[in-house]
Amino acid sequence: MSLPTHHPGDTLLIDYAGGGLPEGAALAVATHLALCPCCRLTVTEMEAIGGALLDEIEPEELSPGCLEAVMARLDRVEAARPAPRPASRPAAAHAAGKVPGRFGAGRPRLPEPLARYVGARGLEGMRWRFLQPGMSYADLPAAGGGTTRLIRMKGGIGVPQHTHGGIELTVVLEGGFHDELGQFQPGDMAVGDPSVRHSPVSDPEGCLCLAATIGGLRLTGPIGRLFNRFVNF
Ligand SMILES: [Zn+2]
Repeated sequence: MSLPTHHPGDTLLIDYAGGGLPEGAALAVATHLALCPCCRLTVTEMEAIGGALLDEIEPEELSPGCLEAVMARLDRVEAARPAPRPASRPAAAHAAGKVPGRFGAGRPRLPEPLARYVGARGLEGMRWRFLQPGMSYADLPAAGGGTTRLIRMKGGIGVPQHTHGGIELTVVLEGGFHDELGQFQPGDMAVGDPSVRHSPVSDPEGCLCLAATIGGLRLTGPIGRLFNRFVNF
C-alpha cells in the first residue's frame, strides 16, 4: 500500500498527543496513524518533547541553569529515541495494509485501534443503515459527542455538495474517493470544516471509510479558531 498523502496536520496531531480530542476524533487520528509512519513519528516527537518539558519545568521562577537542564534533557530524549523506520517498511502493528479482495466481499482487516470498536463479528456483524442509494453507515460506540461511524459506498456514488457544521475527520480504509480537494486513498485523512464545500465521488471499486464529527469542542489551533468563530455567530 502506498503511503498516505493527506494528513491531519499539526493542530490535530498536537490535540491528539495532548489527549484533547474526543473519543471518535481520537479514533480517526489513531486509525490514520496506524497507516501513516510519517505522522506517527511526528506524534512521537510531540509526546517526547511534551513529556520532557512537563518533567523539567516548575511553575516557580526558573532557577539559574534550568534552561540548560531542559535543553540537556531534550538532547537525551532525542538521543534515546529509536531511529525512524524507513518509510517503505510497514510497522508490525500496521500490517493490515490493503484490504484483500473487492470491497464488500470477504472481511477486510482493519487497523488495530479501529478493530477493537468493530468487535469480533467484523464488518458484516455490524448494523448497517441506509443513507442514500449505494451508501450505508454503521455507528461505532465512541463517547464524547458527535458521530463516529463507518461509511461504505458502492463504486461511482456521488454525495451531494455539502459543507460541515463542525469538523469532520474521514479516514479511507479501503477503495477511495475524490472531490474538489483531491484523490483520497487508503490511509488518507480528509478534514472537513465549515469552510470546505465538496462533493465526493467514490472510486469504481467503492469506498469504505471511518468518519468522526466533532461538535462543541474548542480546538486549540487555527482549525479550532475557525470552528469556534463559526459556532459563535
Ligand atoms: Zn499522516
